[in-house]
Amino acid sequence: MKPGEAARVLILGGTAEARALAAALTERAIDVISSLAGRVSKPRLPVGEVHIGGFGGVEGLAGYIQSEHITHVIDATHPFATTMTRHGVEAAQIAGRPFLRVARPGWRERPDSATWHWVASYDEARQTAEALGRRPFITTGRQTLAHYEPWRDRRALVRVVEPLDADAPTAWTVVLDRGPYDVDGELSLMRQHAVDVLLTKDSGGAYTAAKLAAARELQIPVVVVARPATPTGATEVRSVDAAIDWLATATTG
Ligand code: NAP
Repeated sequence: MKPGEAARVLILGGTAEARALAAALTERAIDVISSLAGRVSKPRLPVGEVHIGGFGGVEGLAGYIQSEHITHVIDATHPFATTMTRHGVEAAQIAGRPFLRVARPGWRERPDSATWHWVASYDEARQTAEALGRRPFITTGRQTLAHYEPWRDRRALVRVVEPLDADAPTAWTVVLDRGPYDVDGELSLMRQHAVDVLLTKDSGGAYTAAKLAAARELQIPVVVVARPATPTGATEVRSVDAAIDWLATATTG
């Protein structure tokens, strides 16, 4: 940042943390622009200026940072939005701007996580779940459904935020919902569809955690796809408050 230059923060968003950060910085009279991928038809919008849609890769984002006079880049995208995070790291480096990753804690810290089946990929999740149950509840996201193609004749409950691009297999029940969820609702849904194995990814946070408590109560096994690693070189914090502290330090030198 040049002496006397005011901070203008780009928040790579699409999460509750990104919205909370935009609100907190706006409250502190810091100039913020939040970006969303533009995939959700009715997104929850953060306060302040919003950029909707991709930037066109690393070069596009680096150009945007420069042309918009962005002073700091804070990546608060979902823990599984790994492409955007990698692009953010590289583009900030090209543009010579400080970069911070905010990633909420994962669910490994929950006491019941020791009983879950941790896997490294969606294919492994499917293979592991096959040995555990016959009626899966798939909550790993719309973009992962191709990995469950071998289950097209299996009665599966699938929950996604946005409608699917193509018709789902007729054996599947697709529920559109976006959370936050509560335990009673999850218990009722899981009982109604008689699911006997839950597939999820380690998103962390409270919005979608009720299914884990419900699975525990119903003694349904849980298969969890572990988080991908953060790109090397990225400074990472676990909370919005820590991101605000980082920015305070980064702007005062
Ligand atoms: P991704 O695979 O990491 O990113 C793919 C491309 O989408 C990026 O290269 C970028 O396009 C564009 N993009 C992604 N996030 C963006 C953002 N915040 N602002 C502007 N462009 C963005 O991302 P994803 O996993 O599909 O997630 C997309 C969005 O949904 C993210 O904002 C994420 O926070 C949110 N989300 C994701 C999940 C999940 O499970 N993955 C769950 C909840 C919310 P260009 O290369 O053209 O710049």
